Amino acid sequence: MTSFKYFNIFITMHHVKINQQRLMDDLMALAQITEPNTAGWTRRFPSEAYQRGRQWLRAKMEAEGMTTHLDAVGNLFGTLNLTGQDDISTLKPIHVGSHTDTVMAAGRFDGMLGVLGGLETARALREAGIVLKHPLVVSDYLSEEATDYAIACMGSLAMCTSDFKPEWLDRSVRGITLRQAISDMGGQPDQLGQPLVKAGDIAASLELHIEQGPVLEARNVRLAAVSGIVGIRRAIFELTGKANHAGGTPMNLRQDALAVVGRLICAIEDVARKMAEKGNGAVGTIGKIDIVPNQANVIAGKVTIYPEVRSLDMQEVDAMWQVVLDTVNAACAERQVGLKIANATRMDSVVPPAWMHETVMAVCRNHDPQAIATPSGAGHDSNYLALVAPAIMIFVPSVDGRSHAPEEYTSPEDLALGVQALAEAVVAVDKRV
Ligand SMILES: [Zn+2]
Repeated sequence: MTSFKYFNIFITMHHVKINQQRLMDDLMALAQITEPNTAGWTRRFPSEAYQRGRQWLRAKMEAEGMTTHLDAVGNLFGTLNLTGQDDISTLKPIHVGSHTDTVMAAGRFDGMLGVLGGLETARALREAGIVLKHPLVVSDYLSEEATDYAIACMGSLAMCTSDFKPEWLDRSVRGITLRQAISDMGGQPDQLGQPLVKAGDIAASLELHIEQGPVLEARNVRLAAVSGIVGIRRAIFELTGKANHAGGTPMNLRQDALAVVGRLICAIEDVARKMAEKGNGAVGTIGKIDIVPNQANVIAGKVTIYPEVRSLDMQEVDAMWQVVLDTVNAACAERQVGLKIANATRMDSVVPPAWMHETVMAVCRNHDPQAIATPSGAGHDSNYLALVAPAIMIFVPSVDGRSHAPEEYTSPEDLALGVQALAEAVVAVDKRV
């Protein structure tokens, strides 16, 4: 057993080699399976193209000797047994995966890299003769992108939480209920409502993804071990002032709801810029303003805004939010503008265990000495996987930071480097869990 272990480490250090051409062939082949008459490369849940893409993927997995199955929500899993044991039913798997659905007018890499990179990882580990303690599962989580059913990360959410509400199944989009849609994808919707896995059922989860932001490119690095997914506080503020003539109303007699927003936009930018210097990905935004009556010569009587702040560090999130509240309260009081706060939410950040981050960071640094730790500002399936297993993401650069658009691009060399890091990270994490 001991000598076998050393043999395993030797192989790991020297012989896992992913195949860039094979990876690119898979990515381009899946990109061919897209919805007709749409821009870019579009596969929306539950379209015929999305179903066909997953049938293609499932056949690929089976051709590689993986056993495949769908869970109740329709997540697709391919299991490769590299444990050397015949019966793996009691072993906890390591999951590598992401999603193959897209936004409208999408690119070719967001999500697909994590799934097809997982497939390539499985092939490369098998070819290198690697023995893993855990079965390796390549996952394609259902419908990560939000759809008109108004659920994002549907597959991972239904799998890992009890937040999937059975009444959602009756929602109907273009005449198709969610129940029918999940059933069309091969799921069993009437089993949903309870988590499909328990905490501890999965040994670890790794997700390779394009960054979908400009940080890696700006810092000229090719790999990042993601330090976490930022937490968010947001709400809807309804500000009620008094609409009145812009010429006839003196400044000291106004109740200008839009002037309050002006103060708040500056305050949110100031506090987030200052907080961002701490390196935890702090950001603050007001991206939408509804103004009534929205006339050039009328003081705004009613304004609705949608402020949000994000950071990896929830103390920073709370501190920024407090500035938002203090500022809006003071600015409203000064102008006798009424404030109603609705739909306030506070979503916790998700941080991988320190050992896991160090392990994956070491793998990344091995290939790019400049590799960085960076938070993810976007939500991913890993948010939910992190509730049931140690979970981490690896990022590769997005050219111009673009994504969710046909222009989304990452060089084949960077895509391949990400998969190489993923494959080695699986081996390293397998030893630790
Ligand atoms: Zn994605």
